[in-house]
Amino acid sequence: TPVLEIRNLKKYFNRKEGFISSLLGTTKKPIRAVDDVSIELRENEVQGIIGESGCGKSTLLKTVIGLNDPTGGDIVYKGKRLADFSQDDWKEFRKNVQIIFQNPFESLDPKFTVRESLAEPLNIHGIDYSEERIHEALERVQLNPPQKYLDRLPKQLSGGEKQRVSIARAIIVEPDVILADEPVSMLDVSTQAAILRLLSDLTEDLGLSMMYISHDLSTVSDICDQIHVMYLGRVVESAPTNQILDNP
Ligand code: ADP
Ligand code: ADP
Repeated sequence: TPVLEIRNLKKYFNRKEGFISSLLGTTKKPIRAVDDVSIELRENEVQGIIGESGCGKSTLLKTVIGLNDPTGGDIVYKGKRLADFSQDDWKEFRKNVQIIFQNPFESLDPKFTVRESLAEPLNIHGIDYSEERIHEALERVQLNPPQKYLDRLPKQLSGGEKQRVSIARAIIVEPDVILADEPVSMLDVSTQAAILRLLSDLTEDLGLSMMYISHDLSTVSDICDQIHVMYLGRVVESAPTNQILDNP
């Protein structure tokens, strides 16, 4: 069974009624930001979601993590619908499904040292702090030797290093799903390749599953098993990566 399942998901937003439409008594059609999307993410898989700006990628991600109530359809995590989650289910879900953002400052506090940034998720999820855990997470993201980075603030790290710390923060709680939201699009091209390789190796080594969201097919094609192309809220094509590349 899939770890995470998006089933016929819909998220519509109502448009504000303007003066003319209220005068005429006409109602505007809602924006179909996500329109009947179904994607299955199985263990050890990387599913890519690509599409231009405005096609619904962020809305999809927000709905997958429960920040939006769906207009229709379901998100199912390990066989259980988010809509049926208990408080304990939410706790487990928040630990096990980790997000990596485009901007590392979405997850890194500029006032926190690397050590503090990594200690925080342990604290939040009730996992014992240990120096060893922190070191291991930094080694996993190839910040070696860890001692060199522990007391640095984000401003003392390069863009690629900041993104590595964000990834370390995600994996330190031992999640089973990573949702990567354009994690390399702010980085220069050579760093992009290194971070992509790292994410790909980590999913393999740690047995994770990943949903990788991007506006750019070329960055995802190396690491995704399958690619879903979104257009105006709908998935207009889903195929194994090699097939998509053969028929652009
Ligand atoms: P992407 O992440 O692919 O750029 P979004 O999910 O941000 O796309 O947006 C998809 C569509 O939904 C766009 O037309 C956008 O204007 C609309 N939209 C997104 N969020 C809201 C909101 N909170 N209220 C109204 N419309 C929204
Ligand atoms: P909307 O903007 O769609 O009204 P809500 O703020 O009502 O979104 O939250 C959407 C859903 O996500 C709700 O069912 C809520 O219970 C759930 N949810 C989101 N975050 C949490 C959380 N941290 N703990 C428990 N439930 C949460």
